Amino acid sequence: MKFNELGLMPELLRATTDAGYTEPSPIQAATIPVALKGRDVIGCAQTGTGKTAAFCLPALQRAHATSGEQASLHTLILTPTRELAAQIGESLSSYGRHLDLWHAVIFGGVSEKPQIAELQRGVDILVATPGRLLDLMQRGIVKLGSVKLFVLDEADRMLDMGFINDVKKVTRALPAQRQTLFFSATMPDAIRQLANTLVKNAELVAVNPISSAVEVVSQSVYFAEKDQKRHLLLHLLEQQECQRVVVFTRTKHGSDRVARHLDRAGKRVAAIHGNKAQNARIRALDGFKSGDIQVLVATDIAARGIDVDDITHVINFELPNVPETYVHRIGRTGRAGKGGAAISLCDMEERSYLRDIERLTGKRLTVVSDHPYVGAAPPPSAGNASGSGNGNRNGHDARGPQRSGGARPQHAPQQNGGRPAGSRPRGRRPRSSWSGGGGRGGRPKSVAVSA
Ligand code: AMP
Repeated sequence: MKFNELGLMPELLRATTDAGYTEPSPIQAATIPVALKGRDVIGCAQTGTGKTAAFCLPALQRAHATSGEQASLHTLILTPTRELAAQIGESLSSYGRHLDLWHAVIFGGVSEKPQIAELQRGVDILVATPGRLLDLMQRGIVKLGSVKLFVLDEADRMLDMGFINDVKKVTRALPAQRQTLFFSATMPDAIRQLANTLVKNAELVAVNPISSAVEVVSQSVYFAEKDQKRHLLLHLLEQQECQRVVVFTRTKHGSDRVARHLDRAGKRVAAIHGNKAQNARIRALDGFKSGDIQVLVATDIAARGIDVDDITHVINFELPNVPETYVHRIGRTGRAGKGGAAISLCDMEERSYLRDIERLTGKRLTVVSDHPYVGAAPPPSAGNASGSGNGNRNGHDARGPQRSGGARPQHAPQQNGGRPAGSRPRGRRPRSSWSGGGGRGGRPKSVAVSA
């Protein structure tokens, strides 16, 4: 399948070429033609599969088709975290660079003033997190009456993060006559029910029912006593080719403790979790992206926004008690179909979590028992429990039975070209080019105005 077979307009095809994409990823190939026809979509896909372009490209094309002299809100994209919102904003800038459309990104935790100023100037596409959006809706600053396309991104994370009621409030304010694109990495019952209330006659697009990460990431488990785990972690970081690693802990204190231990051992490490100030989180993420920081220790909620390519390893310092969380975690590596390694440290108490994970993913984790802190004998469910099974110490060939799925998307660097370009003046303000940071009449460079 080629991009030019999807029904996309030339300006968007050019943008995908600019971005270095040679062919659509499976979720794009399945979603874009359906969405362009105006049909609702339920998409099973997580970050890393090319899902953002799967909804941004049709949104831009459909918003363009209806855009008039003055921007009026055509598309609302709701996403759970500010980091995801900012990334979607960047994708809109990149994919919409040859079009004459406006978008804004709004989220909480930062000043609302620039966001409000942006909204008051009119936008075609709005990317928002639920809390800030509801606040601005309640004060009459955002009105959803003109929305024709609604995108709900990461619905299951909305549920995990306790946003479902906010999402429902937002959707009640949307016109009944609209198109809906609904995306979720997993489809627990609550999400399926929510989807049924939002979509009509939807096309189900399930590139992989669980996650492409389950396929492309090699997964292994190390059994160890609880109090040995931090030593084992250090051992792994020294033994493995761990260039860019996310370590998951269950609690904020736990992540601080692990980060302190690694720091004392001389590792370049930072912790991110909900108790950290936004500035500290941004600093940590920037350091991680640039490679100054090798290890990021994160809680699940904080990690929702980590969207860094080339994470070589995800290490579960503690196993999550909700198996879907495991899928989200390992999805931090293996992005865009690239391989990566997920290593889980499992103590006695976590064996049942391991069983749940293996049941959900349909895949046995490779047990690695060849390490100095071996303990907590493997559970009977681990079929390859003796020795290092078919894996190696790097876990790189540790692939057990896998669920089937489509072809893997090619990975290519994303262009980050600022706001949509186009020098045609339109409406009440000039829409001049500022792609790649060039100046444009009276607008700031990024419309992720509060980033
Ligand atoms: P996403 O799942 O939307 O977060 O995308 C994951 C990564 O894949 C991003 O860095 C995108 O720039 C990249 N990507 C998206 N679509 C394609 C494509 N068709 N070919 C290559 N890379 C892509």
